Amino acid sequence: MSERASDQAVKNISRVLQAIAVAARSSGRDPQSVRLLLATKTVPAERIATVLEGVRGLADANILLGENRVQELVAKAPTFAQFSHQVHFIGTLQRNKINHVLANADCIETVSSVGQAEQVAQRVPTGAAPFEVFLQVNVSGEETKSGCSPQEAIEVATQVVSLPQLRLRGFMTIGLRSNVEKDVRAGYAQLRELRDSFVRRRIAGAEYAKELSMGMSNDFEWAIAEGATIVRIGSAIFGDRA
Ligand SMILES: *Cc1c(COP(=O)(O)O)cnc(C)c1O
Repeated sequence: MSERASDQAVKNISRVLQAIAVAARSSGRDPQSVRLLLATKTVPAERIATVLEGVRGLADANILLGENRVQELVAKAPTFAQFSHQVHFIGTLQRNKINHVLANADCIETVSSVGQAEQVAQRVPTGAAPFEVFLQVNVSGEETKSGCSPQEAIEVATQVVSLPQLRLRGFMTIGLRSNVEKDVRAGYAQLRELRDSFVRRRIAGAEYAKELSMGMSNDFEWAIAEGATIVRIGSAIFGDRA
């Protein structure tokens, strides 16, 4: 990938950070309450490093890295380790690869069931700090998407917070694939309502579960209007994936 392409990604990050701030302010939110997760899948490690150098000092704490394939996560880990950004796993969690994810990520956003949460919990080393997870919820109902159903989300979250090896940080969803604003936003509003009712339950651990990871390149402004605290953006920054 050329220097020029990386330069463009640096500009795109500033542009997206500004768009995030505008979207946050227009719904009366603090721009600092929304973090930008760079979805770096298929972007070569050297290019990611160049881009991260280019944005060093610019909103460092508000920029996260996200990978959705374990093999890529492992391969890029040495590059990511040169920077202070948190690394989130955002892909389908396979039982036999959980150890690799635990070793190379700071958080798993895609826990979808109690069984998966238990599998992760079992692999957290004794004495280690609780590992941060999100519960993925399928708000769109599209069959191709992972995540528990909205109907079971509160019960699953309740079980997850009972596992001492995990810390539930919030809820994640992949939104409806649609250009109709009200349909897309309805799903994001539903995730926010789930989060609100879970946090209100006042069970031990629920107070940490305030994050909402929702919104991608095409709809992050709508997600922010519905309360997103993390938007996951790939193509609007790195260009279309091959
Ligand atoms: C790739 C990916 C994104 C980013 O998608 P873009 O449309 O390129 O912004 C967000 N979330 C997940 C889980 C992804 O795999």
